[in-house]
Amino acid sequence: MSDNRTQYLLDASRMPKHWYNIAADLPQALPPVLHPGTMQPIGPADLAPLFPMALIEQEVSTEREIPIPEPVREVFKLWRPAPLFRARRLEQALGTPARIYYKYEGVSPAGSHKPNTAVPQAWYNAQAGVKKLTTETGAGQWGSSLAFAGALFGIDVTVFQVRVSYDQKPYRRALMETYGARCIASPSNETQAGRAALALRPDHPGSLGLAISEAVEVAATHDDVKYALGSVLNHVLLHQTIIGQEAMLQLEMAGDDPDVIVGCTGGGSNFAGIAFPFIGQQLRGGKKRRIVAVEPAACPSLTRGKYAYDFGDTAKMTPLTKMHTLGSSFTPPSFHAGGLRYHGMAPLVSHLKELKLLEAVAYHQVACFEAGVMFARAEGIVPAPEANHAVKGAIVEALRCKAEGRSEVILFNLCGHGHFDMSAYSAYFAGKLTDQSYDESELAMALAGLPSVAA
Ligand SMILES: *Cc1c(COP(=O)(O)O)cnc(C)c1O
Repeated sequence: MSDNRTQYLLDASRMPKHWYNIAADLPQALPPVLHPGTMQPIGPADLAPLFPMALIEQEVSTEREIPIPEPVREVFKLWRPAPLFRARRLEQALGTPARIYYKYEGVSPAGSHKPNTAVPQAWYNAQAGVKKLTTETGAGQWGSSLAFAGALFGIDVTVFQVRVSYDQKPYRRALMETYGARCIASPSNETQAGRAALALRPDHPGSLGLAISEAVEVAATHDDVKYALGSVLNHVLLHQTIIGQEAMLQLEMAGDDPDVIVGCTGGGSNFAGIAFPFIGQQLRGGKKRRIVAVEPAACPSLTRGKYAYDFGDTAKMTPLTKMHTLGSSFTPPSFHAGGLRYHGMAPLVSHLKELKLLEAVAYHQVACFEAGVMFARAEGIVPAPEANHAVKGAIVEALRCKAEGRSEVILFNLCGHGHFDMSAYSAYFAGKLTDQSYDESELAMALAGLPSVAA
């Protein structure tokens, strides 16, 4: 047998026709979302200024299967079904008896899992007659994904990009512009939230929370503009479940069943995408597996955050959700996995952690790049800095299997390629990539400033 990775190709006719909604199988419902002014549970109408009704319905739905519209499936055929690989050379390099599989989402036009939700979000907006969307982006993955989707359906896209990533990753901006979007460094002078942040700190590096404030402010103050979010929300996680559903079919073809599933977590969407269909099986009486979320040690919401009601943005404009949070005023240090620099975690992922249906670990960036380079040399694909966290998590599991002499099956999500992140790899090879620690006193202050919500 060849040493090369084995590819499990799924015929396009077997691409899932439904998204999987884990809300249908939860043993306890999610805590309600609260209005930022009244602190009372919100209803669909409260979200109508920001999102089209079809997406709001998905946000609150408890239907197990939600159909993927035919035009969206047609676009997905540009890159889906995405491949699943067995990482034979990585297994050999590690000398592990474990069988390691990875689902590769870097084959999408933007190079990550994000178009899986950008395309349906743009489509539902276009169906509702929306012509302009605003959004935020960290590393630029989400901004370029929405820019691509906007180009498909004739929607003007404006992207607020976190300043530090805007400066570190000029090619992502070029990609957004190639797809026709306008890209602005955040904090910017275009919104009140941006101007307030710049007044406090002219060299503000920005944060996802702040960029969200800017994008939401523009949508909330303009009737003809809606807002799109690339992670965290229930409907975004829903759209990503096509990843895990495809992986399930592909693992069936491989004749294997995962014991451990690993994903990296920024806001939680690619992790939910690979894990939720499997967790759902377990909740309906199926096999119990270990589900491992890997986050950056410099922005550790799941492992160091508090499970509490908090705002999704820095300017406290969004509704409050119960989630693992470092506090909406927390600004994480400027490490290279820009897509993981968010203060909170998806309410659904947070809820499942509280229900002990998943585990979380945190690693520093140098160890993650080391894992990513080892992966690239074995498998050929250069992972995105975010994906390096999942690679690291999978390697830790594979080495545990080696130490324990167990031939477990490990599945992880390789959520994107790193072709736009080579400056981070250059920094790593030059020895200039260092492990950033967050400021403990800033975290304590941000946590102390969490909104008080009556139980
Ligand atoms: C945006 C992004 C992430 C983080 O977002 P999640 O919602 O946690 O998936 C991770 N990896 C890549 C490649 C990204 O683009």
